Amino acid sequence: MSRIAYVAGQYVPHAQAAVHIEDRGFQFADGVYEVIAVRDGHLIDEEPHFQRLHRSLGELRIAPPLADAALKIVLREIARRNGVDRGSIYLQITRGVAPRDHAFPKAAKPTLVLTARRARPPDPRLAEEGVAVITIPDIRWQRCDIKSVALLPNVLGKQQAREAGAFEAWQVDADGHVTEGTSSNAWIVTRDGAVVTHPANHAILNGVTRLALIDVVKRAGCRLEERPFTLAEAKSAREAFLTSTTSDLLPVVRIDDAPVGNGNPGLLSQKLRAAYLARVGLAHAAAAP
Ligand code: PLP
Repeated sequence: MSRIAYVAGQYVPHAQAAVHIEDRGFQFADGVYEVIAVRDGHLIDEEPHFQRLHRSLGELRIAPPLADAALKIVLREIARRNGVDRGSIYLQITRGVAPRDHAFPKAAKPTLVLTARRARPPDPRLAEEGVAVITIPDIRWQRCDIKSVALLPNVLGKQQAREAGAFEAWQVDADGHVTEGTSSNAWIVTRDGAVVTHPANHAILNGVTRLALIDVVKRAGCRLEERPFTLAEAKSAREAFLTSTTSDLLPVVRIDDAPVGNGNPGLLSQKLRAAYLARVGLAHAAAAP
């Protein structure tokens, strides 16, 4: 099946899909995005993705190019046209095309681009054996809560992780606190069993998976603490894990050169992962016609 993209109101063959060279997304990273998982043909956590999209657009004062109802139809259509039963949909909205000038153009029509990609289930060894993270200084701007397409520090951090043979890079701020990964949220389980993750302020992206997991943690009767934690605390934690739309929940078993706990995926991490996956399954069931 050949891939189809949706660009500025049209479904076009992926290979020919293009935006203008003066699109402000291309020239200024003046735009936002979302990645929505598709499982068994259903969009997972569509509502929180829409809420975050509207928040990002509002913060940047970009007008939504389509009403939600229309956008929901296009999202399903792009998944259908690409035969995506399991995979993800990428959605990007930029401020549009205008002669290059930093200030907002007087009249630009926001550009909407959608692509959909099939994905095989992730390698089960990632969840069974856990993953390693390295740590890097958090060099990003002070509005990481906006899901902006300006991802250069994240790109450099992920590449550094790849070159170190690690799955992810956890970013550490000037106070020594772990903020988040380059494309995932960071969590630890303390020695007395509290589940800790950075509060959703301007320093992190409030992950849709993070929000879902907060619910899972509370339902499991665990103690949740949304507070900054230091790298030292992470290294001496009983367990650690990361969450994202594309990784679900993965146990973290190594931070830099130090094993987390006994170096194996933690029991609570595995339990929360199973509960999260069950929730995603239940979410399908609830969304099914
Ligand atoms: N933090 C950052 C910087 C991200 O880029 C992402 C996802 O791309 C996340 C966290 C996780 O967010 P979500 O759970 O919505 O995928």
